[in-house]
Amino acid sequence: MKQKAKVYLVGAGPGDPDLLTVKAHRLLREADLVLHDDLVASAILTLARGAQVENVGKRCGAKKITQDEINARMIEAAQRGLCVVRLKSGDPGIFGRLSEEIDALETAGVPYEVVPGVTAGIAAAASLGISLTDRRKSARVVIVTGHKAHGGQPDGKIDWKNLAREDATLVIYMPGHEFENLREELLAAGLASEIPAVIVSHASTAEQRHQFTTIGDLGSLPHLEPPAILLIGRALEGADTRSRAAAVSQAIECAE
Ligand code: SAH
Repeated sequence: MKQKAKVYLVGAGPGDPDLLTVKAHRLLREADLVLHDDLVASAILTLARGAQVENVGKRCGAKKITQDEINARMIEAAQRGLCVVRLKSGDPGIFGRLSEEIDALETAGVPYEVVPGVTAGIAAAASLGISLTDRRKSARVVIVTGHKAHGGQPDGKIDWKNLAREDATLVIYMPGHEFENLREELLAAGLASEIPAVIVSHASTAEQRHQFTTIGDLGSLPHLEPPAILLIGRALEGADTRSRAAAVSQAIECAE
């Protein structure tokens, strides 16, 4: 049955269309209007064949779209009886301004539903054969952003002394590309300099690149093309050689 007059807040996953949920795929085919962020891959947008597709990413074109304008667009379309898919990269609840949009929809009395997606940190870990909760080394996963606008503290600073623990795997979204400060902060928080770290760019896509290092050498990490994510922790130990072995066997498979 075709869906109507509702806003679906949908996760598009990290980029590979095969990582969309079946539900996200179905909704894209049934939607009247798709409002998507900059990071959503074009291979995914082409699945929305019957819909009007609009980029409402904060960086789209010359015109800057505000959060209020995005909210107003969703509400107005749903009130006209359209089935709206608000498509966000990864999972809509991870650094995706989901709560602001839900607040606006509730205030306007518009029905909505959240459809989760594969978040970038999980996709990056999977691609390198890393378990973020490897029970021999990691008792917790810390999802955090290096971007001030999303930081937990009023001054935008991250409380590394509390977050960075020897038994935690850190998953850092929007890490920027200057890691010298981070190195200092993590060492000051008491982490050992030999703890491994990896930066993964374009996780799950054909453009995926990664670079392993250690906390002590974070300052010399090369600048990989965004979007990129940084994983740090003992759960990554051995992943460097494992992912090299996987890359070699993939190359052999492809050559066959
Ligand atoms: N909601 C998204 C995150 C949005 S914030 C999710 O759950 O994945 C945007 C940040 O996500 C980027 O700056 C980058 O740090 C990360 N990111 C998104 N897609 C990525 C990808 N394919 N590879 C690596 N990092 C990615």
